[in-house]
Amino acid sequence: MVEQHATSVCPGEVETVDLLAGLGRVLAEGILADRDFPPFARATRDGYAVRAADLALVPARLEVVDEVKAGDWPEPGVCSVGRGQAVGIMTGAPLAAGADAVVMVEHTSLLADQFPGSPAGKPAGKLEVRRSVGVGENFVPRGAEARAGQLLLDRGRRLDHAGIAIAASVGKSQVQVFRKPRVAVLSTGDEVVAIDATPGPAQIRNSNSYSLAAQVQNAGGEAVRLAIAPDERGRLRTLIEEGLGCDLLLLTGGVSMGKYDLVEQVLGELKAEFYFTGAEIQPGRPVVFGSCDAGVLARVDSGVPVGTRARAPAPHKKYFFGLPGNPVSTMVTFELFARPMIEALAGMAPQRLIFLSARLKSEIRTKTGLKRFLPAVLSGEFENAEVELARWQGSGDIAALARANCYVVIPPDRERIEAGEWVSLLMR
Ligand code: AMP
Ligand code: MG
Repeated sequence: MVEQHATSVCPGEVETVDLLAGLGRVLAEGILADRDFPPFARATRDGYAVRAADLALVPARLEVVDEVKAGDWPEPGVCSVGRGQAVGIMTGAPLAAGADAVVMVEHTSLLADQFPGSPAGKPAGKLEVRRSVGVGENFVPRGAEARAGQLLLDRGRRLDHAGIAIAASVGKSQVQVFRKPRVAVLSTGDEVVAIDATPGPAQIRNSNSYSLAAQVQNAGGEAVRLAIAPDERGRLRTLIEEGLGCDLLLLTGGVSMGKYDLVEQVLGELKAEFYFTGAEIQPGRPVVFGSCDAGVLARVDSGVPVGTRARAPAPHKKYFFGLPGNPVSTMVTFELFARPMIEALAGMAPQRLIFLSARLKSEIRTKTGLKRFLPAVLSGEFENAEVELARWQGSGDIAALARANCYVVIPPDRERIEAGEWVSLLMR
């Protein structure tokens, strides 16, 4: 089935996939409870189904009349708990009619094993109970978690293991998900060479295409790695046009102030609209975001001047990010800016970035003016989590980033943060 998704950025088609193949994909359908959850009053302890009123005074003696294990169905009329009676029950088993609580086996002693007339093989006899229970204790009433027909997972939700558990529990062996957005990754720079090439003395391998492709996949997109663009207008433009054929284009490098930083100029030639051309952050200050009109692209392509076509294609924006080339800047700006766009294109409901807090292990001194995202190591457990900056040589230092597991976020007005202060963390 193919269906249009009604958001402004995502005309994503729908596909049906096996449940596990849906991990990390975005639901194109809501998942409903196919019956009450739990479908019966479910014991949460091993013990005895009882009437709480019978245990108002303890110790008390009850008569064990039956046993229900997980998977058994206590047919009303055949298996029930009358006054002064108890029915053995196991975790996950249904509560027999008449019972209103479960007393844990730890608080009981079975005084005789076999009670005359008990069903074959089932323990029965006199039970001594040493603790009272309240009505409703140690079982979950039918439908308390969800009612039949209730929405359990929204359309637009990305499936994680918990979502997979829900879909499985309502019998969805297949799910409808949105097609992944295709995200072009275009690295630029005369010094950048393919990773399987032997770099010359002043060349570096194209790690950004790979880190970005990994981040794209992680965010729910399908990465399309393009050839490396040199710092030369014509070839750069050809590759940008190719990239704009995808749902989103991510460029790296060539967006700073250098003489050979040509990305913005070439995008300008393509009549790009820029929404921003810099952010007050470090690393990542020169990041740019904008769009090209797909109609304009087609006309520029065919050499027919803008405005002379009788029937121009319906305006349709193609978005791009120009991310800085320094590898850590590329990674940070991806998380802050590109990830939300990919999620939107993937059909996901808008998400907020998640920031954790931890105590700073040692003082940080920095300059004011920019919000900083500094690679750091979060360690310690439970309530003792603490964080320390990774030693690094600036935004080109991927070795430091690989040793780090988060970024400490420093507000632009702070010059000094004392050891022991709580700081905000962006996980990576
Ligand atoms: P640029 O943003 O083009 O000025 O590049 C900034 C720094 O990032 C330079 O040191 C580049 O060599 C480096 N760089 C640019 N592109 C890449 C890439 N694709 N992979 C790794 N490093 C890169
Ligand atoms: Mg460059």
